[in-house]
Amino acid sequence: MSTQSEHLQCLIIGSGPAGYTAAIYAARADMKPVLYQGIQPGGQLTTTTEVENFPGYPGGITGPEMMEDLKNQAERFGSDIRWGMITSVDTSQRPFKVQADDGKQMTAETIIIATGATAKYLGLETEEKFKGGGVSACATCDGFFYKGKDVAVVGGGDTAAEEATYLAKLAKKVYLIVRRDELRASKVMQKRIFNSPNIEVLWNHETVELFGEENGFMKTLKGARLINNKTKEEKVINVDGFFLAIGHKPNSELFIDVLDMDEIGYIITKPDSTATNIPGIFACGDVQDKIFRQAVTAAGTGSMAALEAERFLAAQDD
Ligand code: NDP
Repeated sequence: MSTQSEHLQCLIIGSGPAGYTAAIYAARADMKPVLYQGIQPGGQLTTTTEVENFPGYPGGITGPEMMEDLKNQAERFGSDIRWGMITSVDTSQRPFKVQADDGKQMTAETIIIATGATAKYLGLETEEKFKGGGVSACATCDGFFYKGKDVAVVGGGDTAAEEATYLAKLAKKVYLIVRRDELRASKVMQKRIFNSPNIEVLWNHETVELFGEENGFMKTLKGARLINNKTKEEKVINVDGFFLAIGHKPNSELFIDVLDMDEIGYIITKPDSTATNIPGIFACGDVQDKIFRQAVTAAGTGSMAALEAERFLAAQDD
């Protein structure tokens, strides 16, 4: 293993819209950022099809293409974008000591965490099969494709309520599949569910499997087989879209017991800032945002993190 050590002004961990935007800003500020892409280069957007709500793309763009554009823009200003993962960060002193899985050891004056979050799935084999062919974990990304169709949302929290009410405005009918006989969502969100005439809540239901048509690589969802966990009765619903809203897991494991986090693991940043509890470490995008979780809001906080890192470095030089 190489013991080569580099000294960085700015290390960015993660390659979604937050990480790449941070890299664009940090590179333009001459901080010579190094960005490690992580396990899923391009982040969650690479798992969606068409992105139609990111400003600047009037005709829409695919998620992977948009991420390639952001990467190219970051590289244009000299960002050093690398394959691989950061495996450990020693925050006990500055510069922070960092180890990557490519064997590189680095020291970094500032770190921008943009590791995102991962949507939780039920873990069904058939769910995996129809990902991108009807199964999605983002109604705002993919809901538009189900205009006038029947869809299902799984979950009973605020995300499920928000996604179901969003979809109810587009789709003909929305089934909300809830595993218990009550919702976890806040009262105001519940009210919206109950006031939407085209949302049918299926209480005490769990999904057994999804089914659809397969034509080579093309897979098209047609419905779901459910079971009532109280009566054990089976129910089949015919839906074109199946949306998971059973929570996200922020990718913050590297900083457990080091950075302030909420009970789910979202990194807590200072109000109106991306600063964490450790000076010189900033967090942006979905790893610190459980409410909005949009590419454009992630990009916005990415720019904030780079600006704050730049100001932090400048203050050290004073
Ligand atoms: P939550 O953890 O709050 O809710 C997850 C929901 O999914 C629960 O109803 C849970 O059921 C259900 N669930 C979990 N696992 C399964 C499974 N395997 N099968 C079926 N159902 C399952 O996650 P959210 O993403 O909804 O919210 C996360 C946080 O973000 C919350 O604090 C929420 O308030 C906040 N939020 C706020 C918003 C806002 O203010 N506008 C918008 C979105 C989120 P059960 O209840 O039985 O455990």
